[in-house]
Amino acid sequence: MSDTPRTNFIRQIIDADLAGGKHRTVHTRFPPEPNGYLHIGHAKSIVLNFGIAEDYGGTCNLRFDDTNPHKENVEFVESIKADVRWLGYDWQDRLYFASDYFEKLYGFAIELIEKDLAYVCDLSAEQTRAMRGTLTEPGQDSPYRNRGRDENLDLFRRMRAGEFPDGSRTLRAKIDMASPNINLRDPVLYRIRHGVIHHQTGNAWCLYPTYDYTHPISDALEGITHSLCTLEFEDHRPLYDWCVQNVSVPCQPRQIEFSRLNLEYTVMSKRRLTQLVEEGIVAGWDDPRMPTIAGLRRRGFTSASIREFCERIGVTKAENLVEMGMLESTIRDDLDRDAPRAMAVLRPLRVVLTNMPAEAPTSITAQNHPKREDMGSRQVPFGAEVYIDREDFAEDPPKGFKRLVPGGEVRLRNAYVIRCDEVVKDADGQVTELRCSVDPETLGKNPEGRKVKGVIHWVAAAQGVRATVRLYDRLFTVPQPGAGGRDFRTDLNPHSLRTLTDCIVEPLPADAESGACFQFEREGYFVVDADSVPGAPVFNRTVTLRDTWGKRQAGGG
Ligand code: ATP
Ligand code: MG
Repeated sequence: MSDTPRTNFIRQIIDADLAGGKHRTVHTRFPPEPNGYLHIGHAKSIVLNFGIAEDYGGTCNLRFDDTNPHKENVEFVESIKADVRWLGYDWQDRLYFASDYFEKLYGFAIELIEKDLAYVCDLSAEQTRAMRGTLTEPGQDSPYRNRGRDENLDLFRRMRAGEFPDGSRTLRAKIDMASPNINLRDPVLYRIRHGVIHHQTGNAWCLYPTYDYTHPISDALEGITHSLCTLEFEDHRPLYDWCVQNVSVPCQPRQIEFSRLNLEYTVMSKRRLTQLVEEGIVAGWDDPRMPTIAGLRRRGFTSASIREFCERIGVTKAENLVEMGMLESTIRDDLDRDAPRAMAVLRPLRVVLTNMPAEAPTSITAQNHPKREDMGSRQVPFGAEVYIDREDFAEDPPKGFKRLVPGGEVRLRNAYVIRCDEVVKDADGQVTELRCSVDPETLGKNPEGRKVKGVIHWVAAAQGVRATVRLYDRLFTVPQPGAGGRDFRTDLNPHSLRTLTDCIVEPLPADAESGACFQFEREGYFVVDADSVPGAPVFNRTVTLRDTWGKRQAGGG
């Protein structure tokens, strides 16, 4: 993995701010809304914010942007904390909630009213929208815009006291209804919401501040120097600046926008992810097909690989759609280096070795990693009955088939060369067993002058453990699900999960802890799933050995 962080335009701005003496330290924040689990797009923001703080000797806060209580809950708060920690970052004692500032925000709203910079408006949401104008036409002033200061103060206090129903009044900033930037056309700062129980503040409030008002002030109260957010907030920046300039906050953070991460063949909007979970299309937020951090973890991604991926994609202002193959190649690099090798037969076919020599070993020494002595070796049980993969045998081989055929030879990896003498079938003509003879001269190596090209993996029948293996494919069949306004669910891949229940694995991975990663030789990288129980292991395939993405038909592989 890279040792030196790659630079980007945000780091260049920070370098200049530090060099010019504008700031002496860097203070960033990661501000998730607790209305879902974090996804790989959030990881980009986490790596950026925490990474910058780390590299500049600064600090990064974790702040929950919890101004929208009806969609938020404590499960999401806890999952977000766990995911940020798992990604390798530490907010130390700087865990905040925007709701911590509700009282202060209310005080600043009073300050705005006193400065004649905010007013209570009695227009309905619909009327407000209708009078806001368009990109080409200015908006119209609210008839309540010129209410007197005292009346505004009185009404705003009574809004807080719960005297008015939902939707009857809002507090709006008094900026400019003719501004070319619609965000500056007297934006709403507060709405009335009765009857919601906020996960942090309970029923203390029936008045909730908007994101656009809360965010800049929260940043300022925390002494954030650089407030990094995604591009859709670029047009909100003048409002961000207006807020921090017009209330008595201790500092004026600078908002800098960068482009969101978009990934092919998946969705990243929380609304859609929530739908996948709530409609039971996936098994939960941590379903290994989900682009969530919890899903990727369960899929077998390491936190180092996710951080590395975020470094590789970089930080720019250009909209982009990243190929899934790029995420996969990052984890493949990581696992190629670190995952111990093992053998697992996914579609078992019994092979009886009819002439096992008396001196045949009962176990075979196998390297745990071909390139890493330090990972040592293990004893793989061996015996007169083994399983091989059905796909490694062909009665009617296609051209160029190098594995086992009737009368042909193949090497059992690390063990003997075997010859297929007899193919046993059931009443339906299905192959049920192969009877093979071993060449006693070939244990572990080819004797002089003898060449056997094919090498296949195997597991001893007596010691092999029956396992469930889940093979995942992309969740959607098209790179941009739901493009062109169609329902994104019509693009779901019906074959995104295939579960094989009769696999046979060697004892070592079968006994491994949940979360342990292996390369099953010739099959890919796998992780022990949390559903595993002793004697009945479950493995998820993290990724195939090579980049088969795009070359493969949906449902294949
Ligand atoms: P959604 O709009 O789907 O609900 P969000 O952006 O509102 O997502 P938040 O919880 O508010 O989700 O995001 C927290 C932080 O993560 C924000 O600073 C946001 O800009 C950033 N973020 C969210 N999605 C991405 C993404 N795809 N790429 C980069 N950063 C992202
Ligand atoms: Mg948001």
